Amino acid sequence: INFQPTRFITSAPEISKLPADEGIEVAFAGRSNAGKSSALNTLTRQKALARTSKTPGRTQLINVFEVKPDQRLVDLPGYGFAKVPLEVKEKWQLALSEYLQMRKSLRGLVLLMDIRHPYREVDQELLHWATDSKIRVLVLLTKADKLKPGVRNSTLLKAREAALVFGGDVTVEAFSSLSKLGLDKVEAKLTEWFND
Ligand code: GDP
Repeated sequence: INFQPTRFITSAPEISKLPADEGIEVAFAGRSNAGKSSALNTLTRQKALARTSKTPGRTQLINVFEVKPDQRLVDLPGYGFAKVPLEVKEKWQLALSEYLQMRKSLRGLVLLMDIRHPYREVDQELLHWATDSKIRVLVLLTKADKLKPGVRNSTLLKAREAALVFGGDVTVEAFSSLSKLGLDKVEAKLTEWFND
């Protein structure tokens, strides 16, 4: 699949306001600053499809992009900022777990984690919800260019081993928007999901 023609279609203030649950969608999630916007821009070869470096803690929208009719990429708001009140956090987590359980068009989840701080608590929760709901997951260890090849590879192997705990279909790859490392893997996995 060529992801370059991807275009923005809508922003939704909450999961219930997303487009009709038809066709196929792949969701992108991660802690704020994990490199999610950069990854979406890298995948689509666009400079500013997803906005990078958003103000943390601000009310965030779910941005929906269309690769082609009935094929969507869903950019879920970054989570995990300490400044957000507990109540807001809990509401969002509930909505997210519902989305993973209920959304029929959801074919897979791309979970982005900084390679230097993988599997933070919320990442683990999300992984549990996804695998419990039989949603396939592609874990991207982002900013992989920050580590030397040896450390990067040992971190990747450890992260793959850690993924086994969650059961289900979880693939782990190293990724860098800067060096494009792992981009081929992301494209192959998304193509597989969209064509399945
Ligand atoms: P988001 O909050 O998850 O959407 O993260 P962003 O894409 O806005 O990236 C957060 C910060 O990490 C920005 O300063 C980016 O320039 C930086 N960043 C993102 N991807 C990479 C990468 O692959 N390598 C490096 N070195 N920095 C990155």
